[in-house]
Amino acid sequence: MAGMLEKLKRGEWPTRVPIGYDQLTNKGQQQIVVNEKGKLLRKAFQWKAEQRLSNVEILEKLESMGFTLSKQRLTEIFRNPFYCGILSHNLLEGEVVEGKHEKLISQKVFFQINQIQAENNSGYTTKKYDNRLPLRNFIRCASCGTHMTGYEVKKKGIFYYKCNKIGCKVNRGARQMHARYEEVLNGFQLESDLHEPMTQRLLDVFQEMNQQKEDELKHTKAHLKTIDQQLEKLEERFVLLEEINKDQYEKFTQKLRLEKKQLEGKLPAEQIKLSNLQKYLRFAVKMCSEIGSMWVSGSYHQRQKLQKLVFPEGVLYDKEMDGYRTHRVNAIFFLIASLSAKIGIKEKGQTSNKTDLSSWVAGTGLEPVTFGL
Ligand SMILES: [Zn+2]
Repeated sequence: MAGMLEKLKRGEWPTRVPIGYDQLTNKGQQQIVVNEKGKLLRKAFQWKAEQRLSNVEILEKLESMGFTLSKQRLTEIFRNPFYCGILSHNLLEGEVVEGKHEKLISQKVFFQINQIQAENNSGYTTKKYDNRLPLRNFIRCASCGTHMTGYEVKKKGIFYYKCNKIGCKVNRGARQMHARYEEVLNGFQLESDLHEPMTQRLLDVFQEMNQQKEDELKHTKAHLKTIDQQLEKLEERFVLLEEINKDQYEKFTQKLRLEKKQLEGKLPAEQIKLSNLQKYLRFAVKMCSEIGSMWVSGSYHQRQKLQKLVFPEGVLYDKEMDGYRTHRVNAIFFLIASLSAKIGIKEKGQTSNKTDLSSWVAGTGLEPVTFGL
């Protein structure tokens, strides 16, 4: 073992060399050189770093050149710093040593690729929190449903979003994507003098929606009362009147108690008071109106929160119409959008069809009202 560590510290690789390399001995000296497969792997590294091809695309290209690898293997190769001349080994206990072997790629390419890889795998790297690409993994491609990722063309300093699916080719500048998204959020804007009428209108709708629930609640409460009365009666017949024996008493009460428990489970934990609902809706209307500017000026994490708040399941980017679509909007935002259309409250700044909320929220279906704001 001591011999191995010494070798490593001298920059020599003590065990089998990775794929793409041949080990030669020249006058007693170890020589590790790139072989034919290594030359193809070098191409693979370049495709990954420069063209940002996916691993599947790279595997296909390699296969067409007669070099078959498994997906797992390729991932391992891209992660192995040996290819950029760095020795990393358990024996070195975290220390890295510059190897004497031939480099397949530069360290710059290696680190560039591993940043891309980390993004693709867990989605959690320092890069993940890049506020210049807040919509990454939040938007999906409308053509194929795949999540869109973001990247920077460093030479130009320009950011893009792109569909992750091979061959889909949906690719769009981040600046335009952000502007469109801001337009969507601004669609919820209301002039301040319309806040109060909107709050009242929402209150009506919520009460209407809650009416059905209230009817159910009344019914449940009445049923519970009947059960209590029956239980009382049974007790009377058993204890006072001695009309039934203990077995019968227990049999009947057990059944009723079970039914009672089930009904009680249906009762809502807490009823929202009307005054609180009004306060809440007033806040929500105000917040909806500011959501566009809140998103624009927000930190990365604030933006993520807002995005999920309005569109809990994310949005689809439609390349053809250069706009967003969604399947689900938070109930409050949905109501504001549909009500402002219905009661003729039209926001200023709604100029194009792309941002006409009433058209694109139509058919989303209203989710049960949740108070998640
Ligand atoms: Zn796509």
